[in-house]
Amino acid sequence: MSSQLSSAPLAQSIPSYLHADDLGPWGNYLRQVDRVAPYLGSASRWIETLKRPKRILIVDVPIELDDGTVAHFEGYRVQHNVSRGPGKGGVRYHQDVTLSEVMALSAWMSVKNAAVNVPYGGAKGGIRVDPRKLSRGELERVTRRYTSEIGIIIGPNTDIPAPDVNTNEQIMAWMMDTYSMNQGQTATGVVTGKPISLGGSLGRREATGRGVFVVGTEAARRKGLEIEGARVAVQGFGNVGGIAARLFQEAGAKVIAVQDHTGSICRSSGIDTAALLDHVAKTGGVGGFAGADPLGNDEFWTIESDILIPAALENQITEKNASKIKTKIIVEGANGPTTTAADDILHDNGVLVVPDVVANAGGVTVSYFEWVQDFSSFFWTEDEINQRLERVMREAFNAVWQVAGDNDVSMRTAAFIVACKRILMAREMRGLYP
Ligand code: GLU
Repeated sequence: MSSQLSSAPLAQSIPSYLHADDLGPWGNYLRQVDRVAPYLGSASRWIETLKRPKRILIVDVPIELDDGTVAHFEGYRVQHNVSRGPGKGGVRYHQDVTLSEVMALSAWMSVKNAAVNVPYGGAKGGIRVDPRKLSRGELERVTRRYTSEIGIIIGPNTDIPAPDVNTNEQIMAWMMDTYSMNQGQTATGVVTGKPISLGGSLGRREATGRGVFVVGTEAARRKGLEIEGARVAVQGFGNVGGIAARLFQEAGAKVIAVQDHTGSICRSSGIDTAALLDHVAKTGGVGGFAGADPLGNDEFWTIESDILIPAALENQITEKNASKIKTKIIVEGANGPTTTAADDILHDNGVLVVPDVVANAGGVTVSYFEWVQDFSSFFWTEDEINQRLERVMREAFNAVWQVAGDNDVSMRTAAFIVACKRILMAREMRGLYP
């Protein structure tokens, strides 16, 4: 036998369908898993489980455009892990969506759901489409065809989609209706983030932003930072960044800088977030807002703040800008905004990073409440939901804080320790079958 053959591993970690030298967001996720490996004890026997998705579905989504032509879009649904319960995670519409990205997002859902201990595995979906270029009718047709195509693997007990970047309550209503029509009965529990009138939950729309605010205040307390007067910078002013900014302002903080895909703005005395939310609702972005000064997009990262909230897309804080960031706390509203190289730089500079898998878990936590309410057809008050959400977020933050201190690791590695142990213990107890 040649020595080359005998030294090759029996099973490869890197899937043949990705470019091994450019794994994209999936590569970032794999590096995060490698960091947690030494802390998993006996559960590490199963670690390869985390390094490959359980199931990947790639679908063609053809629709007839308003002008009569036919357009094809690429759609994905990835179920990373279902050891602790059904797959759960959002669906993203974006022209740059890739398989690597959806794989990473699905894995971060597994970790997130385990970190806050909701009884789900992790999944994610996406369509490579710029929804801003579609009419309402085209958007509906894309959504319905995509839902039909992934209908073979989703369901209230198997995999439950939800909103993510560029998807909303209306899109969830179309998904729920399409799945239900194909099943021959209304199945509200197949998606979460639905309109209130169709089995949605009070508080779901604001839940991710509210969770960011809750763990942000918890982190500030640990750092001895007063929220009153604290300077907050936010990237992304949608459902996550916009709500978190509003809540921080209501608590007495000053939102001094905001960036989104339309530009960057700043105001050292604090931006009126309610007025900015109105402006964004009317114009589609923060660019051109009269109540603040324009700011260069690179300059946004150099502005001095107390709390920085990346709440847009992944890979925003990299080795290129991490050393320029002057803040005390980063609360990751987005999924995967920080690369592992940037993590190290921030850690060396004493910046506390509250990782995505804890910081933005408020959304899926209230999704869980919505799903439970749908099954029991009994709906809770907004106060009850917000109180339960706060409790889950605080408990998750504190448990991860404790593990970080005990092991002298970052909060990200600590969150991965807590979550991966839960996932792999479930894996171990279930065993292999067939
Ligand atoms: N898309 C959100 C996330 O990344 C929510 C997912 C859900 O509610 O299932 O956590």
